[in-house]
Amino acid sequence: MTLQNHLATAPVPPARAIEISGLNKWYGAHHVLRDISLNVAETEIMVVCGPSGSGKSTLIRCLNHLEEYQEGHISVFGNALQRDSQSERFIHQTMGMVFQNFNLFPHLSVLQNCTLGLTWLRKKSEREARDIAMSLLDRVGIADLAHRFPGQISGGQQQRVAISRSLAMDPKIMLFDEPTSALDPEMVKEVLDVMVNLAKTGMTMVCVTHEMQFARQVADRVVFMQDGEIVEVGPPEQVLLNPQWDRTREFLDHIL
Ligand code: ADP
Ligand code: MG
Repeated sequence: MTLQNHLATAPVPPARAIEISGLNKWYGAHHVLRDISLNVAETEIMVVCGPSGSGKSTLIRCLNHLEEYQEGHISVFGNALQRDSQSERFIHQTMGMVFQNFNLFPHLSVLQNCTLGLTWLRKKSEREARDIAMSLLDRVGIADLAHRFPGQISGGQQQRVAISRSLAMDPKIMLFDEPTSALDPEMVKEVLDVMVNLAKTGMTMVCVTHEMQFARQVADRVVFMQDGEIVEVGPPEQVLLNPQWDRTREFLDHIL
């Protein structure tokens, strides 16, 4: 094989979507993130799990500048994040986030929740914003609820609105912080199904969740955190079925 042929057929390594190195954060004297280093590849599905208080939310909130940190570096698609307006803008254009408690605007309809960012931030026309939002609401199976208000729909439906609202901004990376843990059990699946479908589209996703069935189904890697540290990271079959550390095993015995 000639060198040129070889180069043409060599697999292209996936681009790094997120690079975290030496991240440390304290709340006062409380050291909540301890020397976190982790890369997420483009299109990778990363599941983060670990006991309450282990720093999972703090970690993903650092990624999109909802939290300050004292030490370390984060780059997103090769852009080193700084505390300036250019970085802020880049983050908001690149990452969407879905929270445990949906965080919808209660006084706006489902449709208005989804069009607001498009008209205000992206300067789309009302009509274009509505078309984008309706196609996303349709994709998550709730186009018929477009004119209801958040208080008039179920938790699972509200979370699907929140996902549509994020996707409307055309993010390259989606962050999820326990998106199903505030839901009644019968609503968990409808939200996980949306996330599984999103994973199949090639979206890069970092998901804090204890839904291990989801992790087994779509995660490329699972991260287990405890006391602000990454204890274990690897493919789901390794971390979930054959954990290397007692701390991971104890946690999994507790939740599975
Ligand atoms: P997890 O999401 O894994 O449950 P968090 O990232 O929310 O953990 O919290 C990590 C640690 O940081 C916990 O001990 C928590 O009490 C603490 N913490 C979180 N937010 C704050 C805050 N705003 N001020 C002080 N401590 C906080
Ligand atoms: Mg949390």
